[in-house]
Formats: sequence, structure tokens, C-alpha cells
Amino acid sequence: MGGNWANGWFLFDVIIAGCGPTGAMLAAELRLHDVRVLVLEKETEPVSFVRVVGMHIRSIELMAMRGLLDPILERGRQRPAGGFFAAITKPAPAGLDSAHAYMLGIPQPVIVHLLEEHAIKLGAQVRRGCAIAGFEQDDEGVTVELSDGKQLRSRYLVGCDGARSTVRKRLGVAFPGEPSRTETLMGEMEVGVRPEEIAAKVTEIREPHPRFWLRPFGKGVYSVVVPAAGVSDRAEPPTLEDFKQQLRTIAGTDFGVHSPRWMSRFGDATRLAERYRVGRVLLAGDAAHIHPPTGGQGLNLGVQDAFNLGWKLAAQIRGWAPETLLDTYEAERHPVAADVLDNTRAQMELLSTEPGPQAVRRLLTQLMDFNEVNRYLIEKITAIGIRYDFGEGPDLLGRRLRDIDLKQGHLYDQLHRGRGLVLDRTERLTVEGWSDRVDLIADPTAGLDVPAILLRPDGYVAWIGEHQQDLNDHLARWFGKPAN
Ligand SMILES: Cc1cc2nc3c(=O)[nH]c(=O)nc-3n(C[C@H](O)[C@H](O)[C@H](O)COP(=O)(O)OP(=O)(O)OC[C@H]3O[C@@H](n4cnc5c(N)ncnc54)[C@H](O)[C@@H]3O)c2cc1C
Repeated sequence: MGGNWANGWFLFDVIIAGCGPTGAMLAAELRLHDVRVLVLEKETEPVSFVRVVGMHIRSIELMAMRGLLDPILERGRQRPAGGFFAAITKPAPAGLDSAHAYMLGIPQPVIVHLLEEHAIKLGAQVRRGCAIAGFEQDDEGVTVELSDGKQLRSRYLVGCDGARSTVRKRLGVAFPGEPSRTETLMGEMEVGVRPEEIAAKVTEIREPHPRFWLRPFGKGVYSVVVPAAGVSDRAEPPTLEDFKQQLRTIAGTDFGVHSPRWMSRFGDATRLAERYRVGRVLLAGDAAHIHPPTGGQGLNLGVQDAFNLGWKLAAQIRGWAPETLLDTYEAERHPVAADVLDNTRAQMELLSTEPGPQAVRRLLTQLMDFNEVNRYLIEKITAIGIRYDFGEGPDLLGRRLRDIDLKQGHLYDQLHRGRGLVLDRTERLTVEGWSDRVDLIADPTAGLDVPAILLRPDGYVAWIGEHQQDLNDHLARWFGKPAN
């Protein structure tokens, strides 16, 4: 055993496996509460190829809630929040209830770099070139084994180690679902044909083949997405010849592609971990759920898992968590992932070239001309339609609160420290007893149509009302016993 613990003394409270977007976000959230965090990442360098097209509304809101909006906006390109469901081309629906009702085109490596930097700035330790090989847990903590045979100990371990998660496998948690039925080649390369010719051809081919795409990336480089010939074991990346062959088969030309920057392939396997927590070990992000990238939801889902888990795990470690708080992570996030899996299953059917699904696609395309239908689907993809089950109450209960105006500026600017918040229009309430965990803003002008609300650190409305005793009961439900 390594020498970093003895007699129940831990050098780290939480070890996180994997420094992808989920692991980096979780590390930062934990650091807001002074939790000692170590992130172990098997790759020595951050991955450079571009998987993600963008960040959706709820994730952009989370960035705003932690003071990361400006750097994210500087590095991304704002696009309308429409046309994401099964790539059915539609404008952004009217009435999206957000101060950030746009999509942000930003490559995954840029997001990961920014979140990792943020976590480190807050005091997280990140060790690269360090893979987790296994672990054992007991009543007090987890002994983590590294691939070089060394051991580390912490109170909790969180597997944010992606689709092939070692943590999930070692935990023995089942990962039921469907294997890949189709595969898609994706890469960045130069082309030997004029842009106008490509644009005309893409429009023509995308009609019967919605999974085909050539998009200019600047300086003569194109992002190329084309269905693969079959399903592989994905151990090897595709070759340029694979791309050429598939382009010829589907578009009748290979567009003279050459000089690839990177080439990859992805499948449509769809799986959801049966449990998100076993004792002191938890799962988040792709380690807990995988699905095809239609609609661009995976990174967003993982970052939002981390946001949900961070303050709860911190509360557990700080000692003020109510008994069942940590279990609400799975209770809340498992159904959200199940819903995302379902919407990607539906989208994959709609992207099929078979006549039946194509007919359903045409019908849905017409239905999406009704703003409510378009908005419902976009609220799903962008995760602003989520409502957690906090019991009976007004519709706002269990939903996230948009960034409203306050006397002292924007609401989200008050949430940078990741604490709870009571927003009180009555100016009669107090958070005495919980002021080490919860802030109070008394503001009769706050843009709310209810007397007062309690917001959790992840921005979800946990109580609506006006009476102090009622508020105290809910403070105790979410933030534990009052301090003496
Ligand atoms: C083609 C494509 C396009 C996509 N587009 C979008 C999009 O537009 N929007 C969107 O939201 N999502 C998109 N996704 C999904 C998104 O890329 C993933 O959901 C996201 O990367 C998940 O983040 P994660 O941190 O959970 O896992 P990962 O990003 O997989 O990170 C896991 C990390 O763990 C590390 N690791 C693995 N094993 C170990 C170990 N044993 N020890 C230590 N470290 C380990 C890995 O090296 C990696 O850095 C797309 C995916 C694909 C394939």
C-alpha cells in the first residue's frame, strides 16, 4: 500500500477517474466547497480531435452560473438554437425561456481545456498519464490502484472515464442497451473541388442521406461525415481510402479529399448504467450512459451530471448532507439520461433511409412548423425542459430558473460560489442557521411572479412560498441541520 494514508487519514476526499468534460467540471464544482480533489487522466496530452459541435442552452447557463460565460463566448460561435432534432432544418422556436437562447459552436478540446484550467485554478490536482486500473472500497474509503501498480486512497471515487469506463466495469454495474447497428466516419481533411460544387452536391445528397455532411472548417479544410460501410470493432481509426470509398458510394465523387488532419468513427450504441452509485463509488458522463451523437447531447449531459453531483458529494464530505441527498443524484439524473437515450433512438430512426422512417420524418418536419412542437423538441435537446420530481407544487418547482434581473445585476452572477440561494421578494425571510451554505437576496423587484424561492447550487427551484417555517423545513431537506 502507498504511504499517503494511515489510520483513516486521507490525502484526498475525492479521486476522479478521467479528465474529460465531465471529470473537469466535477473537479471544479467540488473545489468550490474546498473538497480535496485529485483527477487522474490516462492520456498525457488532451485529445486534439474535434468531436463536439457545441454547447446547448442549459450548459451555457451553467457556464454563466460559474463565471465562465465570457471565456466560453470568446472561443465559440453563437448559432440559432434550431434544427437540432434529427437534423430537421427548422428555425429556432419562438419563446425559449432563457437569457442564453442560442447554441454555441465550440470544439470539445477547447471546452475541456477551459474546464480543466478552471478546476486547477480553483485548486484541483490533475495528474496526466495516470490510468486507474482498479479499486477496492471499504466502510471508510476507496483504495485506488493505478496502472503502474501504485495505490492511492480517498473517501470517494467517481468514474468519469468515458464509454469504456474501467470504474463501471470493476464496479460490476450492468450497462444494458443496444450495440451499434450503424457506424459513421468523421474527420477533417482538405478537398480538391470548388466550394460551390461541394455546397450544391451536399444539398442534393443530404435529402436521401441525412447522415452525410461536408462542412467548411476554414482554410480549405472540411469536416467530413459519411456513413461507414459496416460496423467495425473500432479498434483502428479509418483510413483516407475508407473515406474516399464511402464518399464515392454515397455522393458519386470523393471530392478529391486529401491531407487529413484526423479521422475517426463513431457508432450508435445506446446503453445506460443500471446504477450510478455503489457505496463510495459513483459514475457520471459517458461512463454512465452512451448514445449516438445526434442532437449533440453527450457532453452537455455529462457536464450537467457533474453539476448535479458536485454540491451533493461536497455536502456529504463537509458533513452537512441530509441522509438521502447523495442518492438524489441517481434518482434525478438516471431518468434524464434515459430520456436522452430515447430521443436519440427516435432521431436515429428518423435518419434512416428506409421509406417508412423517411415518411415519418416528412410528417414530423410538417409538425415542427407548429411552434409548440418545435419548442418541445428543442427544450428536450437543450435540457431546459427538465423538471425534477421534488413533490407536488407549482410548475416552476423542480425546474431550473432562468437568469433573471435583480437590483444588483443578473441572478447567475450571484451563483458563482456554488451555494444555495433564497430569493425573497417579501423582504421578511432569513436563512439564519444555514448562512454558511445558503445566501439570501431580499429584492422586491426580482423578476419572479412568486413571493420567494429556494434555489439549489445547481440552479433548480427547490421551494416556492412565503412562510419562514416552511422555508426552514425545505432548507433542512436540502441543506441539512442548521448550524448552532
Ligand atoms: C462524433 C461525435 C460528436 C459528438 N458531438 C457532440 C456534441 O455536439 N455535443 C455533445 O454534447 N456531445 C457530443 N458528443 C459526445 C461527447 O463527445 C461525449 O459525450 C463526451 O466526451 C463525454 O464526456 P466524458 O467526460 O463523460 O467522457 P470522455 O470525454 O470520454 O472523457 C473520459 C476521459 O477519461 C479518460 N480515461 C479513460 N479511462 C481512464 C482510466 N482508466 N483512468 C484514467 N482516465 C481514463 C479518457 O482518456 C478521457 O479523457 C459527440 C461524440 C461523438 C463521438
